[in-house]
Amino acid sequence: MRYQRSSALFKEAQQYIPGGVNSPVRAFKAVGGTPVFVKEAKGAYFYDEDGNEYIDFIASWGPLILGHAYQPVLDAVIESAKKGTSFGMPTELETRIAKLAVSMVPGIDKIRFVNSGTEACMSAVRLARGFTKREKIIKFAGCYHGHADAFLIQAGSGAVTFGTPNSPGVTQGTAKDTLLAAYNNLDQVKQLVDANPGEIAAIILEPVAGNMGCIPPKEDFIQGLRTLCDKEGILLIFDEVMTGFRLAKGGAQEVLGVRADIATFGKVIGGGLPVGAFAAREEIMSHLAPEGPVYQAGTLSGNPLAMSAGYAMLTALNDNPGIFDSLEKKTAYLHEGMIPVLEQKGIPYQVNRFGSMISLHFSEQEVTDFASSAAGDHDMFNKYFHGMLDRGVYLPPSAFESYFLNDALTMDDMDRVLTAFSETIKSL
Ligand code: PMP
Repeated sequence: MRYQRSSALFKEAQQYIPGGVNSPVRAFKAVGGTPVFVKEAKGAYFYDEDGNEYIDFIASWGPLILGHAYQPVLDAVIESAKKGTSFGMPTELETRIAKLAVSMVPGIDKIRFVNSGTEACMSAVRLARGFTKREKIIKFAGCYHGHADAFLIQAGSGAVTFGTPNSPGVTQGTAKDTLLAAYNNLDQVKQLVDANPGEIAAIILEPVAGNMGCIPPKEDFIQGLRTLCDKEGILLIFDEVMTGFRLAKGGAQEVLGVRADIATFGKVIGGGLPVGAFAAREEIMSHLAPEGPVYQAGTLSGNPLAMSAGYAMLTALNDNPGIFDSLEKKTAYLHEGMIPVLEQKGIPYQVNRFGSMISLHFSEQEVTDFASSAAGDHDMFNKYFHGMLDRGVYLPPSAFESYFLNDALTMDDMDRVLTAFSETIKSL
């Protein structure tokens, strides 16, 4: 049996870990079946405990943009570990990675490192509230900003996959300060701002959404938010946990040509180790402790292993900006290869893509926000997912996720994926 050992390991894991996993979407609850237990990985591939090989289209959900076990990152982590794994004191390395990140991302003067995307977004909102002395925030249905209380209101990603976009445990008091609009709907945002004059501290969004599938922003949506924020003294927070250092050196800010007031990072910035970060211009960052009164801290923040991995990753991207074009080309090739297969099958579909973020929706209508993403045929998606998995292609196990390509993928790999895709779609 193809998944025999994974199945046994999953059973055992469930005895000791809730649902057998440390992050819900890994459990395959939405798509059914046994989650694949990973043994090891290299480049674009990973190998499961049963010895099956997979082309990996999630790359640890984004961080491994240059593939698994990327040598410069490995070397940096190993060398760093030999000198001690944690100090809780400042190191020169932290300044080096901060300086590099500031040079790559437009409009930021300073950056603070944390341990996850969740922490980054949670801290960014606190900073925005401290800066503006206002309490409410606006977020968009289907956007995911981590699992901090303020964001588990109509959240995307695993939260919606498991039917808990509004999680029990989030108090009414917290929920009332998070106002909701539909993605790509500027009018709704304007209405919320008009209805809460002088009360909105920040608007937070994924500048290219990836947690309800991939949803590119409509023309004028992001610029419209920028203009509105400028007029109303609201801070615009770009959650670039997915898009940062993936769409371009400078992330979505660079590609879209719109500046955020605060940008948050995760995934790629840590090169596969647990890292998040948030960044802004001096005027805003100076409000953060110990310079200013907004408190934020972390025992393992700036950890030398994590910073070494992140520094090696950012250096690789900074020195080889062609990587972003190369990834874009591979994703475009995949996109173009999918269309004739889907056309021939004659089923309703939408392929959404922005740079190296891409997702397939089995839906008649254009997918532009959470409602249209949720309206897709999820049973069909689940069959598609398993068809690909059985053919050795690991896609995100939920229709509410973007695929993450990595630059270790060769054109041969892309052809193998397209063959699997063609067989799978025909079999649906
Ligand atoms: N923001 C976005 C856009 C994300 O995609 C994620 C995670 N997928 C997060 C925040 C939270 O990051 P983490 O899982 O590292 O806490």
